[in-house]
Amino acid sequence: MGQASETIATARRLGKLPAVDAAARAGSLSAQQAAAVADAAGGDAGVGERLLAKAATSSLAELREECSRVKAAALPDPEARRAKIHAERFLRTWGDAEGGWNLRMRDNPEVGAAIMAALLPLRDRLFRRARSEGRSEAYAADALAEAVCAPASRPARSGAKTIVRIDLPALLRGRVMEGEVCEIAGFGPVAVSAVRELLDSGDPFLAAVVTDGEAVVGVAHLGWRATARQQTALEWLYPSCAAEGCSASTWLETDHRVEWATSHMTIFDLLDRLCGHHHDLKSLDGWQLVDGRGKRAFVPPTDPRHPRHGHAPASAA
Ligand SMILES: [Zn+2]
Repeated sequence: MGQASETIATARRLGKLPAVDAAARAGSLSAQQAAAVADAAGGDAGVGERLLAKAATSSLAELREECSRVKAAALPDPEARRAKIHAERFLRTWGDAEGGWNLRMRDNPEVGAAIMAALLPLRDRLFRRARSEGRSEAYAADALAEAVCAPASRPARSGAKTIVRIDLPALLRGRVMEGEVCEIAGFGPVAVSAVRELLDSGDPFLAAVVTDGEAVVGVAHLGWRATARQQTALEWLYPSCAAEGCSASTWLETDHRVEWATSHMTIFDLLDRLCGHHHDLKSLDGWQLVDGRGKRAFVPPTDPRHPRHGHAPASAA
């Protein structure tokens, strides 16, 4: 039922996208690719052609991801979209003509990512048990049945990681501006509030890749303390206090440039090491290191180089 109505919708949309329609008829575009492109392009032939070019050089998963970005960009407000999808969420079941039982669910991508991450290890275990059939979606169905009907048999999640990519300014601001990215890898764009809730969940199988445009600012892990690897890199970068002119090298404290309460994660590029004296000046009198990395000037709030006067994302907090 669901699939049939989608096929009809695709056919209707293709009427407005001649280039995509031609590619689908010529067989250079699969039915799934055509459906994804037609759905994302709506009636916009220009967008259709751009996605057509993308389809030629990417996998179906990559194409779908691009399509969901296009669709998200066309919507005005990710938070409003999240609320709308949440309000309209459903799980429906029906029987088909052949006697099969069907289930269809719709919810936000973060809910889908969580469900699929929970099913993955079960699916892989079932798949290993019966390698011969080789259809992973069949094992995903088995995994769902087993997870719901016999939750005790669920193995610990191992290796099934949910990866979030978010631009740092969007994370700090709480909403995405044009050109910024906030998405769950493989599931498409999500609202910043969804990412914050994921981070708050403390799920150890969640990793956040924090970016600033194309540059990776850091791979955030959950938890307040820097990881052992980050600690080593920090100690190498800051053998002594980060404040210029200070030679203190013992009892250094790791300082979160953006308050933990704001970022909810440890981002390597936003960590400094300060001696007790300079750390106190920061927390009690508002002194700060100027923007940058490594040993640099440490200035009072009145200094024009103080990050509060600047425009770097880290000073937005
Ligand atoms: Zn110092």
